[in-house]
Amino acid sequence: MKVSVWYNNRDIRLEDRQKPKPGPAEMLVKVISSGICGSDLVEWYRLPRAPLVQGHEIGAQVVEVGNSVNKFKPGDRVFVAPKVPCMNCSACKNGHYPVCTDVEERLPGGFAEFVLVPKPLVENGTYLLPENISYDQSTFIEPLACAVRAKNLAGFREDQTVLILGSGMSGLLFTRLARMKGCRIVVTDINTKRLELAQRMGADHTLLAENNVHEQLIALHGKKADVVILCTSALSAVTQAWKCVDRGGCVVFFAVPGPDRQVTIPINDFWRKEIRIITSYYCGPPDIVEAMMLIASGEIKVDDLITHRLPLKDIAEGFRLASEGRESLKVIIKPQG
Ligand SMILES: [Zn+2]
Ligand SMILES: [Zn+2]
Repeated sequence: MKVSVWYNNRDIRLEDRQKPKPGPAEMLVKVISSGICGSDLVEWYRLPRAPLVQGHEIGAQVVEVGNSVNKFKPGDRVFVAPKVPCMNCSACKNGHYPVCTDVEERLPGGFAEFVLVPKPLVENGTYLLPENISYDQSTFIEPLACAVRAKNLAGFREDQTVLILGSGMSGLLFTRLARMKGCRIVVTDINTKRLELAQRMGADHTLLAENNVHEQLIALHGKKADVVILCTSALSAVTQAWKCVDRGGCVVFFAVPGPDRQVTIPINDFWRKEIRIITSYYCGPPDIVEAMMLIASGEIKVDDLITHRLPLKDIAEGFRLASEGRESLKVIIKPQG
């Protein structure tokens, strides 16, 4: 079978590998759709594990199951999470599933024709796709689940002002979630085309990031933002977030500046104003279930976020499109051609 092996963003190779044979508690799935995620492009985050087969947003069909697997059968349409928390360690017991200390096995990457699903993921990380979720739509389950988790941690409430810094894929998903919750939404970016998109997705106001955003917020709503979400790793956005959060509000680090960057927190000011800082970058089982329901019910629409579908052999082009981000939003790889 063909797999795509990532060495860095400019060196992605198509390689031949033996098609795996599932053991008694494993299963083999055929990858139909596999989304390129913004995090796949972040070299400081991915390079320590390179060379690797990436792809953690997959819609797949079961082709072969081990003889002790009875939850699934060949032909089933599934989403498989990249990893599952143990539900038993202290992090899991406190609801911090993304930082479980006892993750047994990860899903091999989905930029491949077939993927062997390991036992813990067959048992607790595989979800049957509802009939009204297509394979392409299923590539949004994981990214939406990550946004859902951050939304729940921050606690979006009706009539709150939500400021989203960065209008890429995650910024747009947050825009849709905030719209669903009845928030006032302001989105910033440095790219006017992306701001137009945010407007179409339901933003009430869009602002160029280089402008004095906090002053414009006050001009628009008479106050600053209750929730500020960082969806860009630009260091300047952090300073902007500090200026834009209202008393009693919170700043969500969904994206962070690289590890070589220093961030200074105006903690004295925040302490006086009861401002919270939240970090969130992944999801847990309840978030996956919530995201699936939101897509299946049509409450969160995703079809119009898909801009490209490419065969596996063109994955390097997919990474180029996704990292340039000028003409692309969601790029989906179709390993079956
Ligand atoms: Zn992702
Ligand atoms: Zn755990």
